[in-house]
Amino acid sequence: MRKRIVAGNWKMNKTYEEALSLVSEIDNMVKDEVNGDVTVIVAPPFPFLQGVGKLTQGNDLMHLAAQNVSEHESGAFTGEVSAGMLKSVGVQYVIIGHSERRMYHHEDAQTLYKKLKAAIAQGITPIFCCGEPLDERDADRHFDYVGKQLHDSLSYLSNEEFDKVVVAYEPIWAIGTGRTASSQQAQEMHAYIREQLSRMFDAEAAFNCSILYGGSCNPGNAKELFSQPDVDGGLIGGASLKSRDFTDIIKSF
Ligand code: PEP
Repeated sequence: MRKRIVAGNWKMNKTYEEALSLVSEIDNMVKDEVNGDVTVIVAPPFPFLQGVGKLTQGNDLMHLAAQNVSEHESGAFTGEVSAGMLKSVGVQYVIIGHSERRMYHHEDAQTLYKKLKAAIAQGITPIFCCGEPLDERDADRHFDYVGKQLHDSLSYLSNEEFDKVVVAYEPIWAIGTGRTASSQQAQEMHAYIREQLSRMFDAEAAFNCSILYGGSCNPGNAKELFSQPDVDGGLIGGASLKSRDFTDIIKSF
């Protein structure tokens, strides 16, 4: 069964106090206003994971994600955080392959594959991000670009491993720019992604995979995006830092 998911990627924002206030506000609004058919995920920075997780523990709709994970299990990797460490503080999801990590930290397809394996081995659900830069879309190569990203990192997973994966389509030109993909652009890419997944894995697994849209999603455009048949929710950046906006996006289903 495909899950409807709204995940907030807080990126490198907020102090600890601010993070606790934000998650308390979201938690209260979700309890009061959201029906039970959506998985809500918050992805705070590493040092806030445990504190934020404690505040969401009593709310079945709320889940905790990390923004990154090491591909290694343990050892001399200064500054890195393993999947086992994340698991031990209650992390259930992890964002892998965000365009900012691909771009600024040079994470390549093989590294992302190893991160996927490391997360899955610990029972943490990866949210695997893909999406094309503007020049690829302008040159009408966006399907091939995204297809290659999927193939190069996901295709080595077994069917059983892939069953755990959530995919997020995030066109780079829409991230943090205020320029959203139209619902038609999102739907056609999500349908393409699902078709590619059905070639790599069994058809049922592809059908059941939640595919999220990310890129300047806000309370004004979420309803139309989420109403598309292959858009199963959103990965939200800027708007996830405001409890009212984030909750209104969650309520857009
Ligand atoms: C993101 O970075 O994952 C994202 C979707 O950001 P924004 O919503 O701010 O475009």
